[in-house]
Amino acid sequence: MATTAETELTFTSREHPSPATPEDRAAILANPGFGTNFSDHMVSIDWTEGQGWHTAVIGPREPLSIDPACAVLHYAQEIFEGLKAYRQADGGIAFFRPEANAERFNMSARRLAMPDLPEEVFVESVKRLVDADRAWFPTVEGGSLYLRPFMFASETFLGVRPAKQYKYLVIASPAGNYFKSGAPAVSIWVSADYIRAAPGGTGAAKCGGNYAASLVPQAEAIERGHDQVVFLDAVERKWVEELGGMNLYFVFEDGTLLTPPLTGTILPGITRDSLLTLARDEGLAVREERYSIDQWREDANSGRLVECFACGTAAVVTPVGQVASRDGEFTIGSGGPGQLTEKLKSRLVSIQRGEVADPHGWVTKLGD
Ligand SMILES: *Cc1c(COP(=O)(O)O)cnc(C)c1O
Repeated sequence: MATTAETELTFTSREHPSPATPEDRAAILANPGFGTNFSDHMVSIDWTEGQGWHTAVIGPREPLSIDPACAVLHYAQEIFEGLKAYRQADGGIAFFRPEANAERFNMSARRLAMPDLPEEVFVESVKRLVDADRAWFPTVEGGSLYLRPFMFASETFLGVRPAKQYKYLVIASPAGNYFKSGAPAVSIWVSADYIRAAPGGTGAAKCGGNYAASLVPQAEAIERGHDQVVFLDAVERKWVEELGGMNLYFVFEDGTLLTPPLTGTILPGITRDSLLTLARDEGLAVREERYSIDQWREDANSGRLVECFACGTAAVVTPVGQVASRDGEFTIGSGGPGQLTEKLKSRLVSIQRGEVADPHGWVTKLGD
């Protein structure tokens, strides 16, 4: 890769003057939950028009001071990533495909008219944070350190145009155990009144605005007694797309798999992509094809569809047992976790944790 001013960024380190006490940290790490507790440090890098990326700091996690006219607060020019650092079988720490997150971050940046962050800076930033906060690994079996890189328009300006100043930050949150197998199946609600993404919109970008738009339909799902919402395409309101934050897979009785294609309205999940490869490694046929809600119901009722699961970094693989819409409910297979779902999940988790060989070079060790 070309040497640019950006790739020569040097990080300044500042230790936290008053990190969490070992007792407080131990209490959090024994029961970390998700997204409510954070490590002591954070990464911060600034971008200014004309100057590019500068002032890279790994320092204490602390509140930001921003002007009330800060552009992101008004026009939502913001993107993020989500990845985990995993404790390895050999005691080390590793990341799973962090360069894929770096690449997707830049894809999102381009869609939101934001500057690219060199991929090696992205990867270095997450490595530095995990290195500084090694003490924040959950002690519970299967725990991980969830990393949240994000970028927002930090310019003080109310005009509508791409900002001339941005902040890139990374924070870390200890995450609890997601079961390696036997995760309970979820029930999902098919949104009829709302869509997540339209052709030409921001569906393929990981931006906060997509999530803001999904909160009402997600709340509707919860209100009706379901766990998650599933969105249909915006044009025909017919093709199954994805959940608010997870991609979908369908497993048929002949052993084939199907996942909706990346047409621009679906977020290109790294878990989705990894499972595509792992399934093909197993000799399974995987089709990336559109699948309609009517076909889904028919196949579940006829028994042709035997399993269905959602996938994403946070929970890896979540079986879908029930689907409900205004036209009624249907159950997939036994309504519980299916065999192939469990097998693929276990395969992926074993690679992430360094318990088996890594044939695709997906694992990056902290020291690498
Ligand atoms: C992040 C995300 C996913 C899952 O992506 P992974 O890279 O597998 O974590 C799926 N759908 C949406 C809308 C997302 O934001």
